[in-house]
Parts: sequence; structure tokens; C-alpha cells
Amino acid sequence: VITVPAWRDLDWLVHGFGERADGAWISESSRAWVSQVHGADVRHALSPGPRGEADALIADIPGVTVEIRTADCLPVLLLDRARRRVAAVHAGWRGVVAEIVPAAVAGLGGNLEAAIGPGIGVCCFEVGPEVSERFGREGRVHVDLAAIVREQLRRAGVSAIHDLTACTKCDAARFHSYRRDGQAAGRLVSGIGLR
Ligand SMILES: [Zn+2]
Repeated sequence: VITVPAWRDLDWLVHGFGERADGAWISESSRAWVSQVHGADVRHALSPGPRGEADALIADIPGVTVEIRTADCLPVLLLDRARRRVAAVHAGWRGVVAEIVPAAVAGLGGNLEAAIGPGIGVCCFEVGPEVSERFGREGRVHVDLAAIVREQLRRAGVSAIHDLTACTKCDAARFHSYRRDGQAAGRLVSGIGLR
């Protein structure tokens, strides 16, 4: 599990971006999750278990770890260490266009830090005109989703950004990738919560 160096000393926090080999590393008794729909809805996990359809999940109760699953989409974790509130965000290109990350920042409030985990890199995320126009561009282009998310975070007032990005398609040994493996692709498990 890839962890944020600046968060490792917080003994009350569980967090990380899982690699392929880590599988479902979050304990079944604490995990809370959503059915991810590439939208901009944010939910609050008051207990473990399924929390409906959304793409960001907030937690602030000990024993609840919010989980998201990705295979190229960007996993983003948010932390308010003073108030001990956290969120996990699923940010694929549709979610980025829908501004799911700023929505999660607004939902969580407070003085936040963000961590961006492995997802499809600018090297491999080539899109056609129907997608590039959603980003205000034209024709076939490479889109840097992580850079767009960093800018959205800054505009939303989050300046402490821990960038742990790596390209999921390029590194088959460590990461699942939908673009590389298609329907058969597994999912990387990321999460954050209070012990
Ligand atoms: Zn790549």
C-alpha cells in the first residue's frame, strides 16, 4: 500500500493507495463504499457498509474507512487533521469534468490536505474529440488528469497536495488498468479512515 510520507506519523489514521498485490486490504468490518457512477455526488459514511451511489465518501467516525476502487481513474484522499475528518474520491475524466474533487472539498470543509494516487498518466491518456472538447480542447490530445485535479484543488483552497501519481497503464506489475486490460481489469483499492 502506498502511503503519504507526511501522514505516516498520524497513529489515528488509516490510509493508502493499494497496488495489485495488496488486493482488498481494508478490513471488511470497517470499510464503507459507494457504487461509483462518474458523477459529482458526495456522501457521508456514518457506518461501514454500502452507502449508495456517489463518487466521494466522507468519514469522521472511528472504525469507518471510506474506500474507492479504480483502474485508471484517479483516487484522491482528503484529510483535515485538526478536525479528524477525511474523504476518498473517485475521479475519472467524467468526474473531473463534473468537478467531483471540488465538491468533496466543499463537503468536507476545514483546512485540508490532499493526496493524489496512481491513475492513467498523460503519457497514456489520449482522447478523441468527443472527450477533448469537454476539457476545452480540440481533436486527439493527451489529457493530464492529475494536473487538472491539482489545479481544481488549488482553486478550491487546498494548497497542501501530496502527489503520489504513477501511470497505471505503464506499470502492469504494480497496477490494474482498464485501458490496458479492458473488461478483465481488476481494481486498485484506496481508502482513508479513523482507527
Ligand atoms: Zn503511461
